[in-house]
Amino acid sequence: LFDALADQAAVAIERIQLVADVDRAKLAVEADRLRSALLTSISHDLKTPLASIMGAAGALREFGVSLPEEGRAELVSTVLDESERLNRFIANLLDMTKIESGAMEPNSALHYVGDIVGSALRRAAKITASHKTELDMPSDLPMLKLDPVLFEQVLFNLLDNAAKYAPEGSTIRIRGWADGASVAIQIMDEGPGIPQADLERVFDTFYRVRKGDHVRAGTGLGLSICRGFVEAMGGTIIASNRADRPGAVFTITLPVPAERPNLGEPNLGEP
Ligand code: ADP
Repeated sequence: LFDALADQAAVAIERIQLVADVDRAKLAVEADRLRSALLTSISHDLKTPLASIMGAAGALREFGVSLPEEGRAELVSTVLDESERLNRFIANLLDMTKIESGAMEPNSALHYVGDIVGSALRRAAKITASHKTELDMPSDLPMLKLDPVLFEQVLFNLLDNAAKYAPEGSTIRIRGWADGASVAIQIMDEGPGIPQADLERVFDTFYRVRKGDHVRAGTGLGLSICRGFVEAMGGTIIASNRADRPGAVFTITLPVPAERPNLGEPNLGEP
């Protein structure tokens, strides 16, 4: 009987190994496919602004002196804007690498969310200039343990997307409220919203919903960075759609830290 069982076990193990080998092979193929898709996407995102910079710089060198003032200014703006785009893309890639290697160490001191929302709004002012922004956040929200740099980047990415995907003149709404042991912050726009099937996938690295989204400056990295940063701070971020009209909604939830233990009366000197 033992021999029969041992034989059966050996066959089973062999089968499992076969399945594992096939899975490994499949995984390797999938990883290769992903790696090359990633490289294609990165090269495209690096080459497009570089081509504009080279074109503008070349034109400046060739015709710079003979061009009217406005023409020169426009070429210089192209160089600066596209360099900024490159810079942001590279910063995003570095952020992603940090998230993926687990090297994120958020610096978490207590902060007022409203302060960080304010600085994100100021930083995004140029981008949201053609939209209306509406802030609805009570001033007595509890303080949260946050990394202000990371959190501002999350809000900035969400404002940047809202301005990018929602039509000019529409309203971007930022709301905040205390929700039991957490604080929720929501950014809501009046754009096309996100198809139900993509609500989760928009957080994947390099995922973009519409083919046409590629004509807009973007990398497909913004939301995966948002999720990486929010999770590194112990929170969650989800995407949904407005119920009352088209529009995307991003909701961040961050835990309110537990009350600090009572350390007793301060010692006011020798008795
Ligand atoms: P990017 O905007 O650079 O493409 P993101 O990671 O920020 O990359 O977003 C991923 C995709 O999610 C976008 O390409 C777009 O298809 C969709 N998306 C993000 N924000 C919005 C929004 N506010 N409204 C509609 N679609 C959005």
